Amino acid sequence: MQRLAKQLELTPFRETAFAPGHNACPGCGSTTALRMVLNAVGNRAVFFVPASCASLYCAPSDTSATDVPVIHTIFAGAFAEAEGMAHALRIQGREEKVVVWAGDGCCYDIALGGLSGAAARGANILVICNDNEGYQNTGGHESTATPPDAATRTGRRTERSHGIRRRKDLVEIIAAHHVPYVATACAAFPEDLEAKVRKAVALEGFRMILLLTPCVTWGYDSRFSVKLARLAVETGYFPLYEVEWGSHYRVTQEPAMVPLERFTRLQRRFSGSDVDLLREEIAAKWGDLRFRCSREQAPPPSPNAGGLGSSCLGITRRQTGAS
Ligand code: SF4
Repeated sequence: MQRLAKQLELTPFRETAFAPGHNACPGCGSTTALRMVLNAVGNRAVFFVPASCASLYCAPSDTSATDVPVIHTIFAGAFAEAEGMAHALRIQGREEKVVVWAGDGCCYDIALGGLSGAAARGANILVICNDNEGYQNTGGHESTATPPDAATRTGRRTERSHGIRRRKDLVEIIAAHHVPYVATACAAFPEDLEAKVRKAVALEGFRMILLLTPCVTWGYDSRFSVKLARLAVETGYFPLYEVEWGSHYRVTQEPAMVPLERFTRLQRRFSGSDVDLLREEIAAKWGDLRFRCSREQAPPPSPNAGGLGSSCLGITRRQTGAS
């Protein structure tokens, strides 16, 4: 059998840190992205997973499929617990990286205070926000990452006269903490994703990567999971970029700006929605992003200057809405 595998150049499944056997929905974009993240981080890591679909497909269970220790935790305590683990590992002289794999409901809403606190303290953790734009584990409810006028189990945002109208901009919120590294990524651009994860892993201090992960509750054919992630980037809906120290912006993938309908028409959640609201949101985001990329800045501090052991452990400036 081994000789046959060698002849066919099959990759033994243990070479991936995310083995077959997870129990997510067919067509889940999160699991594709998780496999890439796990492989890029390597097995010298400890993962924290607050409640989400990942409680099933990643956290310890009889179908557990990861090569790394996974600690399942509550929303509110996830980031502080991870910070404590990183601290304990450092005291013991151990080198494992601490990673939090958390959904948008956790990062954008329920545990935003905990996330901000960890960023402000310069916690030595890597947060991967698995952004599927809603509370999908509970059936597809709206979060503040849900796009304008998308249908969810809790209605459409435009049906209300007050409250948030656009997707909350989590990258900007965390960038305003002037942390070493914040970036966006998705599984449709694997080299970009891998490079960002490896870069974040090599740094110390607080780092976050926002991953767009299509979810079948968006109402698409499961075979379109990666195609949707690609279209999200190519339409400008989800810019791929990175921010170092809160002020050094770089777009890592220039979008072709193909018509937005190529992305929206594959998903039932946009059926009957006003796509112009989405266009306005995208135009505003790109206007802001182009401005931030064009600003002249002093060179960023050297790698790891904000890490443990330096004098720059946490936030060093007043946090503002605009960085
Ligand atoms: S509900 Fe969505 S995020 Fe959860 S396992 Fe299914 S496809 Fe993945």
